[in-house]
Amino acid sequence: MRCTGPFLLLILLVVSLGAGWYHFRDNETVASVAESLTAIASTEGLDTLESLKEGTLDQLGAGSGKNTVREWSNSQGKKLNAVLITSDATDCLIRVVPSQRVFRVPIASLSQADRDYISAQADSKQWQMPEPGASKWPASHDWRNLARRYQVSQSEGRLDIGRYRIHCGDADQERIEAITNICLSVDQAIKTVPLPLTWGKYSEGNRKPVFIHSSDAAYVAAGAPEGSAGFYNTRSGEVHINALQMEGLDLRQDIGQFRLAQRKKYTLLTHELVHQSTPAITHSKLPAWVIEGIAEYFSATQHIPGRFDYHHSQKLVEAYFSQNIEDTDGLVQIKNMRLWPLDTLMSRSMRQWNQVSSDSVGKSHAQGIIQYNQALLLVEYFIHGDNNSFKPFLEAALTGVGYEEAVEKHLLRGQSYSQLQEKLTARWASQGVDLIFQGSPAILLKDFQLEVGL
Ligand SMILES: [Zn+2]
Repeated sequence: MRCTGPFLLLILLVVSLGAGWYHFRDNETVASVAESLTAIASTEGLDTLESLKEGTLDQLGAGSGKNTVREWSNSQGKKLNAVLITSDATDCLIRVVPSQRVFRVPIASLSQADRDYISAQADSKQWQMPEPGASKWPASHDWRNLARRYQVSQSEGRLDIGRYRIHCGDADQERIEAITNICLSVDQAIKTVPLPLTWGKYSEGNRKPVFIHSSDAAYVAAGAPEGSAGFYNTRSGEVHINALQMEGLDLRQDIGQFRLAQRKKYTLLTHELVHQSTPAITHSKLPAWVIEGIAEYFSATQHIPGRFDYHHSQKLVEAYFSQNIEDTDGLVQIKNMRLWPLDTLMSRSMRQWNQVSSDSVGKSHAQGIIQYNQALLLVEYFIHGDNNSFKPFLEAALTGVGYEEAVEKHLLRGQSYSQLQEKLTARWASQGVDLIFQGSPAILLKDFQLEVGL
């Protein structure tokens, strides 16, 4: 009896929050990476992409003598079995078999036979060499004033900055600056963490299209779901933002004063920008938790616009979860989190995922939220609680190793899914959160301590 009021309130909050979670990923209509990237490239003002012109990343290494395991040897005569992924003038990328780990190797360190092999394969290369990337996970980044470091050229309601082309409409300058800064921060963040997120990236000459709409009508006309703050169109490669939803976004505020309602808006924008900036992953056939978990990770760790705190990732993830079930500026303490068994969630395709998320019935809708929370929990765990096993996993999965094998080699490493659940449970127990893995998880009032009266 006592619980009825708050429980109904919680359900209403959960349902009302739902609209923001859809993001129009239509995997079934994206025939291949090539097709979708060509669509991105053909958007106004963009040059042809240099990378990923043909074939999906799943097919990388297949055909044209690729995906051929051969014996390699260095100039000291040390030998190993590996597959050539790609190369440039100085380095090559090889995947060592059977460890399925990807390495960047200076071509000069290899035997003459290996060098001949690389030059013979160079013509059939379908993928440009990725940037080396960071070796260590950074503690934090403060890019609140990043936009000021860039040269801006503005004409006809269009702003070219960094690798973005921002169509401003008639949004005011303050909002344009806030949105621009979030775009640049996301672009910078995915480049500076040790994950293969920029593989298959846009070449330097291309700009990522972002549209800022100053009226709901214009925003909806662009194909956006009503009531949302931003969305990414997988076919056009465009991110569309409703500037009205971004009202009051102030880059100077500190975390203590930052309103949760505002935070939800820019976290959604961040989520969509991450999808746009990681095309090789977004357009892969990887299960949904990988694609959504990466987008959620950057949304959760960007605790104010432009400022990422990876060092406190677990605390920020917990704050992000409570934000997702609460619609005021108060605080919610999470006691229990009900989740799907890992083998169920981790094998869910994007199509199955969207079925769960798009079910508008209250209980199922909560399950949509649980999916995103669980994807975030997994990605945060593999990065910060498992010595960044997410890196070799993604590298293997993006270079032609099947998903199941990549999981087995790099994430499970001989453990069962139940053992992995135990490890996750132990990690979160130290934060005072009990993880409960069950067949049909729900969001229940008794799992939260509502801190009323703060
Ligand atoms: Zn998404």
